[in-house]
Amino acid sequence: MELIITEKNNAARRIAEILSDGAATTTQRNGVNVYEWGTKTCVGLSGHVVGVDFPEEYSDWRDVEPVELIDADIVKSPTQENIVRTLRQLAREADEAVIATDYDREGELIGKEAYELIREETDAPVKRVRFSSITEREVKNAFAEPDDIDFDLAAAGEARQIIDLVWGAALTRFLSLSARQLGEDFISVGRVQSPTLKLIVDREREIQAFDPDDYWEVFADLTKDGETFEAQYFYDDDGSEAERVWDEGDADDAYDRLREATSAEVTSVRRRTRTDNPPAPFNTTAFISAAGSLGYSAQRAMSIAEELYTTGYITYPRTDNTVYPEDLDPEELLDEFTMTHEFGDDAESLLELDEIDPTEGDDETTDHPPIHPTGAVPDRDELDEDEWEVYELVVRRFFATVAEPATWEHLRVVAEANDCQLKATGKRLLEAGYHDVYPYSSASESFLPPVEEGDALDVTDVELEAKQTQPPRRYGQSRLIQRMEDLGLGTKATRHNTIEKLYDRGYIEDDPPRPTALAEAVVEAAEEYADPVVSDDMTAQLEADMSAIANGEATLDDVTQESREMLERVFEELRESREAIGDHLQESLKADRRLGPCPESDHDLLVRQSRQGSYFVGCDGYPDCQYTLPLPSTGEPLVLEETCEEHGLNHVKMLAGRDTFVHGCPQCAADEADDTEDEVIGRCPECGDDEGGELAIKQLRSGSRLVGCTRYPDCDYSLPLPRRGDIEITDEYCDEHHLPELVVHSGEDDDDPWELGCPICNYREYRARQAVDDLEDLDGVGPATAERLETAGVEEPADLREVDPDVLATEIQGVSASQIRDWISQLPEVDAGDDDEGPDGDSDAETDAEGGDEPTEEGTILDDIQAEVEGARAGESD
Ligand SMILES: [Zn+2]
Ligand SMILES: [Zn+2]
Ligand SMILES: [Zn+2]
Ligand SMILES: [Zn+2]
Repeated sequence: MELIITEKNNAARRIAEILSDGAATTTQRNGVNVYEWGTKTCVGLSGHVVGVDFPEEYSDWRDVEPVELIDADIVKSPTQENIVRTLRQLAREADEAVIATDYDREGELIGKEAYELIREETDAPVKRVRFSSITEREVKNAFAEPDDIDFDLAAAGEARQIIDLVWGAALTRFLSLSARQLGEDFISVGRVQSPTLKLIVDREREIQAFDPDDYWEVFADLTKDGETFEAQYFYDDDGSEAERVWDEGDADDAYDRLREATSAEVTSVRRRTRTDNPPAPFNTTAFISAAGSLGYSAQRAMSIAEELYTTGYITYPRTDNTVYPEDLDPEELLDEFTMTHEFGDDAESLLELDEIDPTEGDDETTDHPPIHPTGAVPDRDELDEDEWEVYELVVRRFFATVAEPATWEHLRVVAEANDCQLKATGKRLLEAGYHDVYPYSSASESFLPPVEEGDALDVTDVELEAKQTQPPRRYGQSRLIQRMEDLGLGTKATRHNTIEKLYDRGYIEDDPPRPTALAEAVVEAAEEYADPVVSDDMTAQLEADMSAIANGEATLDDVTQESREMLERVFEELRESREAIGDHLQESLKADRRLGPCPESDHDLLVRQSRQGSYFVGCDGYPDCQYTLPLPSTGEPLVLEETCEEHGLNHVKMLAGRDTFVHGCPQCAADEADDTEDEVIGRCPECGDDEGGELAIKQLRSGSRLVGCTRYPDCDYSLPLPRRGDIEITDEYCDEHHLPELVVHSGEDDDDPWELGCPICNYREYRARQAVDDLEDLDGVGPATAERLETAGVEEPADLREVDPDVLATEIQGVSASQIRDWISQLPEVDAGDDDEGPDGDSDAETDAEGGDEPTEEGTILDDIQAEVEGARAGESD
């Protein structure tokens, strides 16, 4: 039997289909799909199925000094048990094996890991095949001429894994232990993660240090023959034109003179033709940025692209190359699109060009082509909407690279009025060129009427605008990925995961990301004591070392040993300062939870967590000051930048997946509840007959509303109500429950108020709706995704409760861990006991497996304060 091993299950299915001409059958072994035809068997891995780690005896954070990790042995252990077991079983039956993992450094290492597992079972020959797109032609060509594994290239990847593990784990444990942050809240450090964080923190420092300058701009409308256009005042500033006036007196002066002017004389008209060249072929970074302007996060864009790659529609999406290879024949590829409904006309028009000469970017590498469509064109209904949009982007980018340049006419008009110079520019598209096939880049024109030198124009609507210089902007995700690429941080495969990880670890918030106080403290500590881990030098050195290993000029042992010695020196510095670092980190952790002054003491109010896990606002002066405020019971609080003018407290946002909402100032919410009278609407069904309890609409201090019994706490009967909107009590009554029907009016759109009806009937319907019976009942799960989930063993929604999102995401192409978490959050709540998410094992070694171990102590530095949350009753969910 010939055993073929691919990087992922989807690739295995597709390759089996191609090589067997559709005859392969699927069976399952240990829950893993195995494809068989003739004498051949094909199985997919899940990226890395083994990971580097320390031996068991190093796993207790308290028993092992972090510095001991530097020289600890490194072991490889399975991270995907089922796949490893299946691979071993199949290897014992194999006469030969072919490694068909992805064609890049990480793929070579994944292939070598499979090779080592096979070698433990058999001496059968093991070959390697390489291809850049899973199309019939490429795959069959590759299998016709198999090659050997490049062990040096794999060793380069392995050296990086080991260095990332040792640095990440030793520094993560050191910082976490010094700040006494164990359990889920450990403080992570990583060779790629930390310099990326420093980029974000440095930008924030620039923003904070920014001192704005005032300036003014003056505009006027000019009119010729009834056609009006806007012109801007400018002046000569040492030989160059300037529009910003830095002196208020000068600005007023220009403004006054223009207002007094009755007409302006055109002193110059300049027309110029500009060429606008089509863009270069897509590499990963340019693709992520283009998808970003369509609204896709980097993570989402990459997972869709990977899906399109494994289904054979586009080439491998992880590439730095921006030059098409020799063997790509653009005409041939365009030809494939001429018969399609969506792209036919554009492909035809491109084929009619005299010459097809694709654009080239600056980077030429040989491993993969730039991202382009393969010519296997899907029908539109085979893809979901997002997949189609991304696919179309890739197709149109290819079209653009073979299209003609566009040409623009730029028109510039200068006029003089009362000794003031005014200018206006316009542009007109003369030849649309590539814009015809690539509608994503701006082709907007701005209009100027035809004017000639010497024309007299009317001057009207003179305006003076006061402005301020702006601080630099925070990096958006695609800009950040671009910066990482410039600095060689991470790989095209991992950059987007690194950013996700910074969110997960509480280092950044919002989009574009803003660093937390913890992030600033970690970067400061690293800068002061462990500079290599945040500096670019280490990254550059490692890249050079890896190339040396790949070229056979250095060995894995040389490189890892040198790195260990560097880390030893870092630890000598750190040891002295352990306490200072710990204090500083703890201070910053507190700062991230600080809301503002306590009304009853000199301390600050903080967001705290009770022993039961619920959040509330408590005083930093506890136990001397016992002031508290409740928070909503849904979600995890995030302290926003905005503050309440009345109480000086930061607003709070509750993060709860798609139910995320802004709670605002907790003091305002509590005050509003105190000022709101309960409104009785009927008799309590629980105790009304015996005790005379009544149901009332109540506003809770946590910002929630509910219908509850007036005999609370003796009777805790309650029904949920929506958090927002004005509730109207109508005259209509429910026959069954004798309660009035309620209508909820929302401020903005009151044409269509929500007829909530009888609160008991409403709650009953709500419970029925909450039941999620089918996978497709989950938001964002369509038939295709449901099928993939089922293949991965998730047959019904409840099965999602058992999975580790990070692990499952590696098994299903096109699905991210955060999507899986979102689906889990949509499952109806189970009454007893939260399922703890458990520590997230960083086993997905395709991400930079940084600091790849987890804390062993469920510690917390929070004081044990009992939340006296008034709203902590059943049914408060909304
Ligand atoms: Zn207080
Ligand atoms: Zn307030
Ligand atoms: Zn009652
Ligand atoms: Zn009813």
